[in-house]
Amino acid sequence: MSRYWSDFVHSLEPYVPGEQPQGHNLVKLNTNENPFAPSPKVLEAIRMATTDRLRLYPVPDGGPLRLAIAGYYQVPAEYVFVGNGSDEVLAHVFNALFRHDKPVLFPDVTYSFYPVYSQLYNIEPALVPLNADFQIDIADYQRDNGGIILPNPNAPTGSLLSLEQIQRLLEMNTDSVVVIDEAYIDFGGESAIPLTQRFPNLLVTQTLSKSRSLAGMRIGFAIGDPQLIEALIRVKDSFNSYPLDSLAIAAGVASFQDEAYFQQCRQQVIDEREWLISAMQELGFEVLPSAANFVFARHPQHDAATLAAGLREKKVIVRHFNKPRIEQFLRISIGDRSENQLLMSQLDLLV
Ligand SMILES: *Cc1c(COP(=O)(O)O)cnc(C)c1O
Repeated sequence: MSRYWSDFVHSLEPYVPGEQPQGHNLVKLNTNENPFAPSPKVLEAIRMATTDRLRLYPVPDGGPLRLAIAGYYQVPAEYVFVGNGSDEVLAHVFNALFRHDKPVLFPDVTYSFYPVYSQLYNIEPALVPLNADFQIDIADYQRDNGGIILPNPNAPTGSLLSLEQIQRLLEMNTDSVVVIDEAYIDFGGESAIPLTQRFPNLLVTQTLSKSRSLAGMRIGFAIGDPQLIEALIRVKDSFNSYPLDSLAIAAGVASFQDEAYFQQCRQQVIDEREWLISAMQELGFEVLPSAANFVFARHPQHDAATLAAGLREKKVIVRHFNKPRIEQFLRISIGDRSENQLLMSQLDLLV
């Protein structure tokens, strides 16, 4: 607090990201990073882009990366917007595409950045409760709104909506923008990107942070009708013309060019997830079905905060949210086999 702050800053309640400890002796399963390295071709592309050309500004619209994403998803380049992580893209979405005079709908249990963006841009959120099984019920979104945003799969629950359900949501909601945040879609869901050709109010966002192992490069994107993209560009160009640096653009392009490596890592994370789910179930955990690179689980006999603290003492970090409805759950990112085994051996001692 300082008397030099604006009133607005005094009132802000920022997002609190998961811990990023600097040491290397920890099993870090708290922020849904990918346990596998980025593609060697991505690392080579970053090295190749590290030249005296870094004295020049990058292309303002992501240029080659925009084209690579458009090619990969078979949409025109005008359907693609790139940003400095999908968090930045989402911030621009709240500012540019959600009406500020009606409530914006999102689940009561979801990505905790949404309420923060709502506050930042003075938008009133209306929380739509997940059902008793912690699933999103599309019928609950049939009400007047200034926009709708849902992660698919949802975070932190991991639960997936089918493309048919998304389509039903779009058919009943044509007057405001519907955003599907597909940060985890590569781990088992079907992307709604093809629906952007039929629904001009659908915007799909994705990130290279999770399924493409590039959280450190900060690359996210949105795909939607060119009129939605134009709104995002207008806000971007009123804020920062060059959100992606030259190295990020090179890294992103190379990632979309190495399909074999992407498919292999993605499958390995999925296989590890299934391994971890059965191991946790054997210890008595109730694990929600997950289509993401994390699981959301509770133990009927053990307090989640106590379990998280017990793991932390053994140098295993998982995420615990001290929030209504989910305070007895742990969100655990999928590690590689040795990390998952270490996690299980420590849980075995705690339950
Ligand atoms: C991780 C995450 C993001 C943000 O990803 P970045 O591209 O790293 O900013 C967005 N939405 C959800 C639901 C996430 O879990």
